[in-house]
Amino acid sequence: MTISEKILNLLHDLKTFSFTLVAVSKNHPAEAILDAYKGGQRHFGENKVQEMSDKQLNLPSDIKWHMIGHLQRNKVKYIAPYVHLIHSVDSLKLLKEINKEAKKNERTIDCLLQIHIAREESKFGMDWMELETLLQTEEFKTLENICIKGLMAMATNTDDISIVRAEFRQVKVHFDTYKNCFNHMPNVDFHEISMGMSGDYKVALEEGSTLIRIGSSIFGSRNY
Ligand SMILES: *Cc1c(COP(=O)(O)O)cnc(C)c1O
Repeated sequence: MTISEKILNLLHDLKTFSFTLVAVSKNHPAEAILDAYKGGQRHFGENKVQEMSDKQLNLPSDIKWHMIGHLQRNKVKYIAPYVHLIHSVDSLKLLKEINKEAKKNERTIDCLLQIHIAREESKFGMDWMELETLLQTEEFKTLENICIKGLMAMATNTDDISIVRAEFRQVKVHFDTYKNCFNHMPNVDFHEISMGMSGDYKVALEEGSTLIRIGSSIFGSRNY
């Protein structure tokens, strides 16, 4: 099967859900992205600034680039001119830097706040307290060139679907609360939940995900 066919099959299987597919192209060459692009795919996800910027330069300009990996403050400037959505915001400091660079580029950058829900230590993201504190900080209200569009989360890497489902459900409950509490703010517009990868996207969609980030199921396994 070609990459485009894999995407079409996936979309067909999931046609009862309403969502955006982010094709995670990290560690795959530009040609693989072009194959998907020719089949109509426009949203692509990368986890490294350098790799995303190299690809962005060489590929069609209507591709929507999603930064899904941990983002260092000193690298925000490289993606600020073109990035479509940053999924991995995990501190006010980072958000301030994104705001600064967005302003320089005379644009607003859409962001998701990454919440840590997995049992593993290694995954990035804030806990619920940190996230709520961020949204209620006076300084946050002054950031006019960013917009918080929702939450991003990664579930525990386990075969036990009940754990994964419970984690995703928790995200949806908080999302609904935040939408009610914070959407009146000018730089907050909760309407996206980014959760679900190759191993758990079906569960994520059942629990309310609106953005699934799929890599290996589309592009095959990555060679590091
Ligand atoms: C690599 C990656 C994905 C895609 O993972 P697959 O299991 O290959 O679908 C999704 N989200 C993030 C944050 C990633 O780093």
